[in-house]
Amino acid sequence: MRRVASINIDIDTLSEDLDDRTQTLSSAELRRITYTKVMPRFLDLLKRHQIKATFFIIGKDVAQNKELLKRIAKEGHELANHTMTHPKQLVNLTAKQIEKEILDCGEALRSVTGKYPVGFRAPGYTISPVVLDILRKHGYRYDSSLNGSISYYAIKKSFKALRLKDKAYLTTQRFSDLFSSRAPYRIAVNSVSKKDPNSTLIEMPISVIPYISYPFVSALLLPFHQKFSHIGLSLIRRNTTYLNFELHINEFTKAEDVAGRADTFYLTRNWIQIDYEKRIAYFDALFSAIKKEYDIQLLRDIQP
Ligand SMILES: [Zn+2]
Repeated sequence: MRRVASINIDIDTLSEDLDDRTQTLSSAELRRITYTKVMPRFLDLLKRHQIKATFFIIGKDVAQNKELLKRIAKEGHELANHTMTHPKQLVNLTAKQIEKEILDCGEALRSVTGKYPVGFRAPGYTISPVVLDILRKHGYRYDSSLNGSISYYAIKKSFKALRLKDKAYLTTQRFSDLFSSRAPYRIAVNSVSKKDPNSTLIEMPISVIPYISYPFVSALLLPFHQKFSHIGLSLIRRNTTYLNFELHINEFTKAEDVAGRADTFYLTRNWIQIDYEKRIAYFDALFSAIKKEYDIQLLRDIQP
């Protein structure tokens, strides 16, 4: 069986400037920089490797960046739903509010491509049966929010409580869901991790490195030596024929983009400490390794 991989990226802003009332990202200027300065670098990288990727877009960024998003879709990439305002605690909202977050972003993306998106990723990997039911009801094909990493669960519990001072962000993942399938599966109704072959909604889980149960997410791999990622990749390859490699746009920030700004996301501040050329060399090597072993597909085209 041929191996299938997805390269996908969350187009979050470079900010951690959370609005007090809504707990959503509020810096318009950092959102603008994300699209005008940072995004073109990622598009160049994809072009160089001839890779088609899935982009998880925050709906409220769409109106201002329509032309660029149109071009991205036209070049064969997939635009998918990352909620309208990126609320950090999506699952703690009411079902009505969650539905609005999903529908508003879907509508915004339809205004770009003429079609509703079929894929969804929740901010901060926070999903629940309620979120999945809403996706099912509105004809979504897949969710890609499940991060079944025990290491990440532990990191999130301890580290993020201190760094983000955002307690609502923490209380969202059920421990039992960490042991769900590492390959795409059809999600049973009223569940996150149970399978049902007749279900219309597919989970595309984030890949997790076996044995150490560590997420194969570039934000969490970049701090280590490149070798760590390549060993992780080969362990995943031995375990399953599927790879879901998740990136974040802030990994392509240069120091000059955010010079003098105090409200940048702490990970953005970390990445600009790493020489930009070094980061690009990291992605070049990893993308080449993935291309050698996998068919790279859009998430919307991957079969369970
Ligand atoms: Zn996000």
